[in-house]
Amino acid sequence: MKRRTTQITAKSNITSYVEINLTVLKHNAALLKERVPDGIKTMAVVKANAYGHGAALVAHALSGSVTALGVASVEEAINIRNSGVILPILVFAPPRAGNISDYKTYNLVATVGSFYELELMSSSMSFHIEFDTGMGRLGFSPNEWPELLQKLNKSELKPSGVMTHFATADAPGSDKVNVQLQLFNKLLEDMGSWKQGKVIHASNSGGLLYYPEAAFSMVRFGIAVYGFSPSAVESISGLKPVLSWKSCVSVCKPLKKGETVSYEANWSAPQDGWLVVVPVGYADGIRRGLSNKIEMSVAGKRLKQVGNITMDYTMLYSNEPVETGEEVVILGENAMMADEWAELLDTIPYEILCGIHPKIERRPVS
Ligand SMILES: *Cc1c(COP(=O)(O)O)cnc(C)c1O
Repeated sequence: MKRRTTQITAKSNITSYVEINLTVLKHNAALLKERVPDGIKTMAVVKANAYGHGAALVAHALSGSVTALGVASVEEAINIRNSGVILPILVFAPPRAGNISDYKTYNLVATVGSFYELELMSSSMSFHIEFDTGMGRLGFSPNEWPELLQKLNKSELKPSGVMTHFATADAPGSDKVNVQLQLFNKLLEDMGSWKQGKVIHASNSGGLLYYPEAAFSMVRFGIAVYGFSPSAVESISGLKPVLSWKSCVSVCKPLKKGETVSYEANWSAPQDGWLVVVPVGYADGIRRGLSNKIEMSVAGKRLKQVGNITMDYTMLYSNEPVETGEEVVILGENAMMADEWAELLDTIPYEILCGIHPKIERRPVS
């Protein structure tokens, strides 16, 4: 067998790395932009380390493709700003007295969803007002609009946007989205000319793809730009996964028929074969619940994962020996994709992607 050295064997202290395909990322962004009417702004959501893809990396790669970035926290925003990104950054988390100075220092846009948060704003700050039209999380109740308008009129504050967030836009044809849309449209009507010049936004990926009438003046896409359809039922053709997770064979040794593998000894070899040990486990983000259910690819060939996944190691079964150092694809082309893992775990690809430990290097490829 021809020996192939992986990029890992050169660096002995690295057990796996994540490849981020920037060409695919930009392709997805372009495909999403084609789906919104001309003149509508686009925000790439890069919270949770850009859904595990590397926030600064993704922010830079998309800088020429989107009008703004969205993050969960001030900390995430600072990290992106410090990497040299100059796009507007909207922070979804409620501002707090302790971080107002960061909004100013790093030129961040706040999301204000309560009267307490409003009081933290000053005339020099940029902020959007969030309404809870049915998400059941953050934001003013639409009923609070008259009081909010009164307070704004008495102040020097200048909100630059109005937003809401859908609870069920990942499902096409949801009644709940339509109820939220009606509430939001009614609110915008009540605002009359007040809303002029402000950026108005509601849609996440699901909203953008399944409810084109809800684009308003900006859409906020996350999961779709990373290549996954918000709905497993109605997948969007053309979107491609951006991330691959790779490792290498740590050890390969013979396994006799009947020998068991790993904790709890719940799997035994059906015949003589080979045990392939991959130095990545649930501490890295391969969820233990996937034990005995997945496949990985070694030198382009799919192998069954066997035995319980352990903290730092995962085992595969092979009919033939493989070389130490041979490339293993954990997630990505030739192996399984994050949405397949999600289905096995009864969760969504978001949780798989952002569960890949941040300690693992993200490497751009194009
Ligand atoms: C996470 C998030 C998004 C993006 O959602 P996707 O389903 O990944 O497109 C948009 N808006 C807000 C407020 C969010 O928290």
